Amino acid sequence: MIFGYVPSRRLGKSLGVNNLPEKLCSYSCVYCQIGRTKNLTIERRAFYKPEEIRKAVENVLKEKVDYITFVPNGEPTLDINLGRSAEILKDLGKVAVISNSSLIWMEDVRHDLSFFDLVSLKLDTTNERLWRRINRPHRDLKLDKILEGMLEFSRNYSGTLITETMLLDGFEYDFENIANFLRELKPDRAYISIPIRPPAERWVKPANPYVVMKAYEVFSKYVKVDLLTDYEDLNFGFSGDAKRDLLSITSVHPLREEAVLEILKKDNADFSVVEELINEGKLEVREFGGKRFYVRRR
Ligand code: SF4
Repeated sequence: MIFGYVPSRRLGKSLGVNNLPEKLCSYSCVYCQIGRTKNLTIERRAFYKPEEIRKAVENVLKEKVDYITFVPNGEPTLDINLGRSAEILKDLGKVAVISNSSLIWMEDVRHDLSFFDLVSLKLDTTNERLWRRINRPHRDLKLDKILEGMLEFSRNYSGTLITETMLLDGFEYDFENIANFLRELKPDRAYISIPIRPPAERWVKPANPYVVMKAYEVFSKYVKVDLLTDYEDLNFGFSGDAKRDLLSITSVHPLREEAVLEILKKDNADFSVVEELINEGKLEVREFGGKRFYVRRR
């Protein structure tokens, strides 16, 4: 349920909260780093009790972090207790959430998000056809309702609002349209990213640098923009139990080899732990972008 500390490309030093017991999402993005979504859903449900999450955070939180971040293996707003969980964590530190935005047309989701100090919303495209091809949404979702919900949320939200736009090779993006939407949304910062870890679909490739710079240039006319095109540093937290650390972090994103070695070193363990996890069918090795990654098997 809790993982990290994790060095985050957007949030500095962050303690991760995985508030879903298994991968549950309203999207099945082609670039998802935790594989295809088997349980595509838009039904909000109760999972862990907020008090249970608070206790788990208290047990792990030993030093100051920039954010306690809800970044589960799926879409965090599917958790009907999300707002309450954020509310009762606030005296322990600032709370953040990384959402795919898909349920923000629901008033109760906007209400839950308003408890967070920082909300990150996904905005890969404003084009319905591209959205269906890239994010592969649940059949009952409508992009225009989601975009409207994002604007409605932004008008009333007083925390830090950021967006993330993932750019892939081989798709025709309309950056002017996305930029116009950003102008209305007024995020504190719009992040542009590319896949840096093994994606759900093996054919997915990062957009080329020319396309990324084009997006940067167009978005920058209206909002502050940052690029997320690098790997995080290797400053992962550790618990002393290498198996536990490797499994909890890989349940939300693959780890590149250097990070695995760093965790083993900090936990005073050797590579046999990784071999054991591979033999038990819990981890597998994948190559992406010329690098070797360790991926959680589901
Ligand atoms: S990338 Fe995020 S929104 Fe897309 S399928 Fe994976 S968990 Fe869901």
